[in-house]
Amino acid sequence: MATLTYDYVVIGAGSAGCVVAARLSERPENKVLLLESGGADKDIMVKMPLVFTMLQYHPTLDWGLWSDPEPFANGRKIKAPRGKVLGGSSSINGMMYSRGHPSDYDEWAQMGAEGWSHDEVLPYFKKSERNWRGEGPNHGGSGPLNVIPYTSDEPITKAIRDTAQALNYRLLDDFEAGNPEGFALPDSTIRRGRRASTSQAFLTPIRNRLNLTVVTGAHVTRILIEKGRATGVEYVKDGSRQTVHADGEIVLSGGAYASPQILMLSGIGPGDHLRGVGIQVERDLAGVGQDLQEHPLVPMGFVTKKPLAFGQALRADRLTLSVLQWLLTGRGLPATVPLSNIAYHKSQPGLSRPDLETVFMAANMMAKVWFPGFRKKQPDMLTTLNVVLRPGSRGCVKLRSDDPLAPPRIQFNLLQDPDDLRLLRHSLRWTRDFVRQGALAEFVGAESFPGAALDQDAALDAYIRKTVATAHHPTSTCKMGIGADAVVDPQLRVRGIRGLRVADASIMPRLIGGHTNAPSVMIGEKVADMILGN
Ligand SMILES: Cc1cc2nc3c(=O)[nH]c(=O)nc-3n(C[C@H](O)[C@H](O)[C@H](O)COP(=O)(O)OP(=O)(O)OC[C@H]3O[C@@H](n4cnc5c(N)ncnc54)[C@H](O)[C@@H]3O)c2cc1C
Repeated sequence: MATLTYDYVVIGAGSAGCVVAARLSERPENKVLLLESGGADKDIMVKMPLVFTMLQYHPTLDWGLWSDPEPFANGRKIKAPRGKVLGGSSSINGMMYSRGHPSDYDEWAQMGAEGWSHDEVLPYFKKSERNWRGEGPNHGGSGPLNVIPYTSDEPITKAIRDTAQALNYRLLDDFEAGNPEGFALPDSTIRRGRRASTSQAFLTPIRNRLNLTVVTGAHVTRILIEKGRATGVEYVKDGSRQTVHADGEIVLSGGAYASPQILMLSGIGPGDHLRGVGIQVERDLAGVGQDLQEHPLVPMGFVTKKPLAFGQALRADRLTLSVLQWLLTGRGLPATVPLSNIAYHKSQPGLSRPDLETVFMAANMMAKVWFPGFRKKQPDMLTTLNVVLRPGSRGCVKLRSDDPLAPPRIQFNLLQDPDDLRLLRHSLRWTRDFVRQGALAEFVGAESFPGAALDQDAALDAYIRKTVATAHHPTSTCKMGIGADAVVDPQLRVRGIRGLRVADASIMPRLIGGHTNAPSVMIGEKVADMILGN
């Protein structure tokens, strides 16, 4: 069979890859192929915002990855969920719209990522976005990605804001309008009550575009390199090996675990490591798979003294009715994520920007559907997720072997930097103190976990090591820059290989102090513009 030829081959239909493929195929003369290992995103669970936590480790929608035993977290293996479906991780994520702090991008530019300062990336955030506020200096009003406000008439949500105000924290209407320090209700990527993944936002509206071919179930095994140029892609579909040729460029958007994995399988990466697993070196690039960064996260839970709407709504008969309502109208509990306020705050007053995030969720995240006589209702809880925004710990992604179907080795090294541990400890104490103040004190009862008795440093450290997880924001394993450890240049071209770019969360020179879906979409927008020469 003759090898099919395309102008552009995009690997991975995730947050960035869907955007790249959609934008490159806007020009009818460009023949574009998008290869995705996962399947279509038709499952109702992908569409229903409420059940997003049930998608992690779903047998077909998630890659099922774990870290190796973590040396600074009691040797525990830590979850590393990733979407394996059209839309990638945007099809399984928490849908929170967030960009981080403007200075995060200015720092990228200072590190050598010319063209990526906040002023230079803002137009790409705006281009992708259809924000409920409409077009304005900080938001786009007509892009494909729908962004809605989080609304809540839950009294505890108001109590959190009242308490924040009484304690002189800033109350914000919009985290993306300058300095995000303070409390606000987050925006979400949801449209008409359904998840707005990049597949739904960017691919669905153009599904009849003749010059874009989307192949699902296509597991890319390597990029073919001839004389220093990426010429094609090899993949396995339905058990058979296939190759396609790229006349123009190949864009690798496999995400922070798979992009370095695919580069290494193609002979691009740290020479010694590649030789060690029996792979011929095409280009010795020390930075591939290095510098893995993640947000360490530790949960807390407080029983509430007053009932929460979420717990009430989980009664089987009420939930059934609300699912029916959602199916018919797109409204009701299934159209929401049980969030509340988010706070970006500082561990010390003198800092130039927040270094901690606390996510308040007006829900017991372990609660199950209940009904009298069938299962008891679990106690209502205020859950908080306590996150270090710019951790110092660094991990890596490596190959297990030369088998392209084997999962990569992931080592986060969470808590390797003692400062990350100190900040988490501070964050737990900050949250514990905050919930006992002002209006919120009337709602918050006993601390369920870790438990108020744990107040000495050593006890808190032990709890942190026992429970630390990640916010599922892996980045920087193919980082952009100009130094010896950079994998791609500021045009996202792989150093020393022609015709190959990487565009996804892996290229971030440093993890941003926010959530990583919108930034990955922005990266997709910007690379497409660079390729098209706009
Ligand atoms: C559970 C969870 C919750 C999250 N919540 C939020 C949130 O609320 N807000 C937020 O901003 N961010 C959130 N994130 C993070 C955010 O979703 C990711 O940072 C973002 O989606 C990364 O985009 P990406 O393009 O780098 O990779 P991905 O979106 O992961 O895309 C990579 C794609 O490549 C495909 N692929 C991989 N290997 C191959 C191969 N060999 N062959 C073919 N295809 C392949 C994958 O299947 C996938 O479709 C969350 C992530 C997770 C997992």
